Amino acid sequence: MTWPEFGKLHPFAPVEQTGGYQILFEQLEAWLAEITGFAGISLQPNAGSQGEYTGLLVIRAYHEDRGDAHRDICLIPQSAHGTNPASAVMAGMKVVAVACDALGNIDARDLRAKAEAHSARLAALMVTYPSTHGVFEESITEICATVHAHGGQVYMDGANLNAQVGLCRPGDFGADVCHLNLHKTFCIPHGGGGPGMGPIGVAAHLVPFLPRHPIVTMGGERGIGAVAAAPWGSASILTISWVYIALMGAAGLTEATRVAILNANYIAKRLEPYYPVLYKGRGGLVAHECILDLRQFKSSAGVEVDDIAKRLMDYGFHAPTVSWPVAGTIMVEPTESESRQELDRFCDAMIAIRAEIEQIELGQMDRHDNVLKNAPHTAQALLSDEWTHPYTRAQAAYPAAWTREHKFWPSVGRIDNVYGDRNLVCSCLPIEAYTV
Ligand SMILES: *Cc1c(COP(=O)(O)O)cnc(C)c1O
Repeated sequence: MTWPEFGKLHPFAPVEQTGGYQILFEQLEAWLAEITGFAGISLQPNAGSQGEYTGLLVIRAYHEDRGDAHRDICLIPQSAHGTNPASAVMAGMKVVAVACDALGNIDARDLRAKAEAHSARLAALMVTYPSTHGVFEESITEICATVHAHGGQVYMDGANLNAQVGLCRPGDFGADVCHLNLHKTFCIPHGGGGPGMGPIGVAAHLVPFLPRHPIVTMGGERGIGAVAAAPWGSASILTISWVYIALMGAAGLTEATRVAILNANYIAKRLEPYYPVLYKGRGGLVAHECILDLRQFKSSAGVEVDDIAKRLMDYGFHAPTVSWPVAGTIMVEPTESESRQELDRFCDAMIAIRAEIEQIELGQMDRHDNVLKNAPHTAQALLSDEWTHPYTRAQAAYPAAWTREHKFWPSVGRIDNVYGDRNLVCSCLPIEAYTV
């Protein structure tokens, strides 16, 4: 990325001066098309959410082109990521929610009823596969067929493509558009706000509507306008996904998918005796992530999901996704990149925390002054002359053997999340400090 050949090119450099990038775009598009089973790819969107917006505009352009400009209803299951309804509204559609059943699947009967009721105005269904509940929707083919039967298009949220690459392809089971989060599935590091890339893949009938650009010739002949300032989004980071796919190869990518699914199921099985796994597929398995239900500890021990997340820091772990998609739970997505040893350390930490909760439940540990409620423990708090808590400093700081060898010291103790969310605190110097 930092090679000047990649990093020093202006996004609007004349195409004849960007030969290397053109090869990279072409090859990456071909690879992504093969992986997803789609006919065309647009590398313009800069994020998954922008891919959603782009894909829905493409669907709208398709309907308009066929004289169906009135199709503006977008069906979205309750389990969807928040960006789905937001993108639908930005693309000028009206959102109709579809219910989920007790197993976390789309309620097929409710979907049929909603598709039927809105048949004349049905524009699209947005569906995440495997779902954000961490299960492979068994009726996905049937779901797509239902939407098509009513004249709608299927937008697949491909953020969970990590569970599909090499094993199955959205284009094969009925999706018309799908975005890929290259910063999730294809190795671009993310977190802390990007940058990411959210290209979309589309079936052949939608290729003519792929985004164009006012300065650079690209996209479909009846394509929508540009969705990003630069024609190929954050092009320089595409080098990461290109190298990743090139080095992994077809067999390597498929193996990564298998290991990602295996890792999630390993964690689910090891932790299930201690924490209920909220949603599972029919065979008792999860997809590439699992949701651990922590809600029961609120009444049994006064312990909430945040207490467990903060206590994990004392064990040396950054907590998994907290309270999403279900409040009071954690969603664990280990991916293919953690070693067996690391997975075991994480499970050991969670099991040890369960024992700490049990001590509170049994009244052996105070309900308010305990290792969970006071977590995370900073060096500053532990090195004070006075220690009044009913547990030892060692219990606080070295709860597991490995923390003696590799200790992560949290730099701040417990903060008041709600207060922080509601009160803007400016830490800048006062304006006088800048005057001469
Ligand atoms: C991450 C995610 C998105 C949004 O992608 P961004 O690149 O963060 O905009 C959408 N849907 C699901 C299911 C996701 O996990």
